[in-house]
Order: sequence, then structure tokens, then C-alpha cells
Amino acid sequence: MEFQLWWLLSWPLFFGLGWLAARIDIRHLVRESRSLPRSYLSGLNFLLKEQPDKAIDAFLEAVRIDPQTVELHFALGNLFRRRGELDRAIRIHQSLVDREDLDDVQGLQALQELGEDYLKAGLLDRAEDVYLKLRGTSHNEAANDALLEIYQQEKNWQRAIEIARDMPRRGSHRWEVDIANFYCEMATTALAHSEFNRALGLLEEALATNRTSVRANLLRGDVFVALKRDAEAVDAWQAIGDQDPAYLSLVADRLMDAHRRLGHEEKGALFLRTHLYQTPSLDLLEIVFKWEIERNGPEAAYALVRDELKRNPTMLGLEKLLEAASRTVDSDMKDDIELVKKLIHGHTRRVARYCCKSCGFKARQFYWRCPACGGWETYPPKRTEEFDLAV
Ligand SMILES: [Zn+2]
Repeated sequence: MEFQLWWLLSWPLFFGLGWLAARIDIRHLVRESRSLPRSYLSGLNFLLKEQPDKAIDAFLEAVRIDPQTVELHFALGNLFRRRGELDRAIRIHQSLVDREDLDDVQGLQALQELGEDYLKAGLLDRAEDVYLKLRGTSHNEAANDALLEIYQQEKNWQRAIEIARDMPRRGSHRWEVDIANFYCEMATTALAHSEFNRALGLLEEALATNRTSVRANLLRGDVFVALKRDAEAVDAWQAIGDQDPAYLSLVADRLMDAHRRLGHEEKGALFLRTHLYQTPSLDLLEIVFKWEIERNGPEAAYALVRDELKRNPTMLGLEKLLEAASRTVDSDMKDDIELVKKLIHGHTRRVARYCCKSCGFKARQFYWRCPACGGWETYPPKRTEEFDLAV
């Protein structure tokens, strides 16, 4: 009898405990499913399968179910930016910046993302505002990188100089090369506005920052020519021979013109010829070749190019040799040589490109700043074909 009573009393207790356990389990499950909606998981799945469009749909659904989830907003914003839907990315990141329930880390992250959206959208003023706010925070370095890029795109070289001077050392990168180029950019504008003294002052700054700045001496020569001070122009350009003679090819024709105006063309030709011998370069060869034909005739020019081609065998050199040859031979062979020259010219026109040593971007013209990777002085002043065959 006593045993039965205990048995009867224990039943409600077991039920009660079971009910409680079930409630706890269900609550836990509900909480879990809230913090991790199914659409979130399918969004992740689409991302892993590299289907960003479907991932965006799934994340949008997850955000609809739980509008408070900060991380989901970040994920969505980044996906929109990656897909080029910058207005939507900006709206999402702006809404995150405006939220008051974000902690400091999330708030700065939201600002950083918003800055990237603006930068990618080309809204430089707004990007600048955002990155200026991020200076001095844990995002300081990224903010300075972005500001430096913004000021370069805006051609605000003075501000670019200030930022670059504060940049920390980064591997083997020489910020002074960048800074000297910023001064050169300002000097180029000053020269275009005939502000010659200002231009010379800026170029002095460039050389004080980076004494190996070839571009500064090249521009100094241009300013002196504009001032009709040819002797100083010659000095500035010939100084490039001590800095990096490979760059003489960029200025060889101007150097010869200045020497000609000064009445001592031979000096210029001798200078270039000496450097041509030390540093093979087609542009130098071209100038010296032209001078040789004018002065000493096609036979001498032919001998010059033939010797050069032996030392430095390139298709562009061969083209020059044929040009010299066609001037020295009689009319029967002339047609044949012209034909071969034409064929080679078709080939060299395709391969004669300057090539960025940093990113490999090829261009017909020489750039001080690579249009693809934005590196300064990453183009060697030689065409690729000069490298290809010159072993
Ligand atoms: Zn590049």
C-alpha cells in the first residue's frame, strides 16, 4: 500500500521534469535557429559554391528574418560591392555607420567598408571624409593608403607629399621615389603655366628628396630650354648619364637639339655614342644613326648599326640596319631590302612595348606611373623587344 502511494506521487514529478526539460530544449532550439536562420546557412553554401547572386538572395532573406544581425549586413554589403552594385553596398554600410548599437570595432569596420565603397564608386570627396575620420584609429595604415591613392587621383600632390612623408617603411619600397615624382608632377604643371622659377624650385625639392630622380633632371632640362638657357639644359640632361644612363634614351633627341643650337653638335653625338657603347639602347642608336647619316653618309651609318647589332641583337636593331643598307645599295636590291624591312616593321610594331616590371602591363608609350598598378618608375626606359633578344 505504501509502495503504491509513492509510485502514484512520483508520476506528476516525472511529468513535470520531462515538461521542463522539453521546454528548455525547445527554447534552446528556437534561440539557435534565430541566431542562425536557414537562409544564412544557404547563403554561406552559395558563397562557397561561388554563386554570389544566390548568396545575396539568401542573405537578404536572413536579414528580413533578423534585421539586427550586424555580421549579415557586413556580408551583404561586401557582396554588393564585389558585384559592382555600389549604391546598394553604400546604403548597407551607411546604415551600419548610423546604428548606435555597434561596438567600437564594428563601427570602425563599417566606416572602413563605406570608404572602400566610395573609393570604388569614384566618389573621392566622400571617401576622403571617411578616411580622414579613420586616421589615428586602429585603421590608420589602411586610411593613409587610401588617402594617398585619393590625393594622387585628385592630383592633389601637396597633400600626397604630406601623407607619403608619414608612411612607415614597407619592405624595400622607397617612398622618396614617390615623393620626388609628386614634386615632378607639380613642376610639370608649373612649367605648362610658364611658372619657370616655381618649377625649378619644385625640381630642387624633388632632387633633395631623391637625388637619383632622373625625372627631375629631365624636367630641369625642359625648363632651361623654355628659358632659352641651353647650356644649363645640356648639363641637366647629361647628369642623367651619371644617375641612370638607360634613361638617356628618353631625352636623346632633345639633348642633340640643344647641342645643335649651341653650335657643338659633335659633342652631343660623342656623348650619346659613348653611352650607347656602355648601355645599348635603340633610341640612342636611332639618334646617333641619324647624326651619322647626315655627317658621314650611309656607309658610316651602316657600319655603326652593324657593329651595334652584333653587340645587341634585336629585331628593332635589324630594322635600323636594313634602313641603313637600303640607302647604300643600288636600286635593284633596294626593293628587296625595303620588302624585308616592311615585314620586320610589322613585327616590331607589335612587340615594341614598354613593360611594367611590377605588374607586367605593356604600353606603347613610356609612363612614369603605371596606369595599371599605380607604381611609380616601374617602367624601365626600354622596349620589351630590346630585352627579349638581347641575351
Ligand atoms: Zn604596373
